[in-house]
Amino acid sequence: MSKKITLQGILFDEKSSYLRGPALAPPLIRKAYHSESANYFAENGMEILPELWNDKGDFEIKDYFDIEKITSKNLQSGHPLITLGGDHSITYQLLQAHYKKYGAVTILHIDAHADLYDNFEGDKYSHACPFARIMENKLANRLVQIGIRTLSKHQAEQADKFGVEIIQMKDFDSHQLPVFKNPIYLSLDIDGLDPAFAPGVSHHEPGGLTTREVLKIIQSINVPIIGADIVEYNPTRDQNEMTAMVSAKLLKEIAAKMLAH
Ligand code: MN
Ligand code: MN
Repeated sequence: MSKKITLQGILFDEKSSYLRGPALAPPLIRKAYHSESANYFAENGMEILPELWNDKGDFEIKDYFDIEKITSKNLQSGHPLITLGGDHSITYQLLQAHYKKYGAVTILHIDAHADLYDNFEGDKYSHACPFARIMENKLANRLVQIGIRTLSKHQAEQADKFGVEIIQMKDFDSHQLPVFKNPIYLSLDIDGLDPAFAPGVSHHEPGGLTTREVLKIIQSINVPIIGADIVEYNPTRDQNEMTAMVSAKLLKEIAAKMLAH
């Protein structure tokens, strides 16, 4: 089987705690990806042409737990999967589906927020909670977080309890990136970037990663990427669709890295 990448869009933002909008993101990321303003070449020289995508389209979600079923079905193609969100709550469901296929995986999570709340405003499935659910259900054997700059006392305790490796933004050094032993799942919350680079997010958290730093993190991954998501792009907050283009660029680089291994 020639190597392709399966793509799915999850039109869901009901678990957002502050603003809705990420459900609108997938078609706009696709549009930016195919914009004639750019070409399909990733920085490693690979051309990520439309025919390399096994694109399953976008899915309207009525019930949060349907996300796992849809994802499991789309994983049956045998190709690695990239999901466009959607708010970050979807990642728990995505990881449930990946667990059934791959077992527990190592996760690299880029975000301004640790998303480790036991519950947020009474909801255990809030977009502030997915990594608590993933760790307590042992869907990951290692969780490395980069870009965190909002660590509350409760979330620091949760990180200790689950053994999460957090590289807080204040300590981030692009010359000392994590080294992995096993294939990884990459979960990329667009608000991990500084809002100067990616204003189209619900939670503007200053002091974040540059686009170049996120590209370097992706390009430096030393193991295969078995799956990935790009979440929390909120088009209602964007300017000139620039965050859509940032998301599309990161999508292309993740795809190139997946296909290169
Ligand atoms: Mn998040
Ligand atoms: Mn976030």
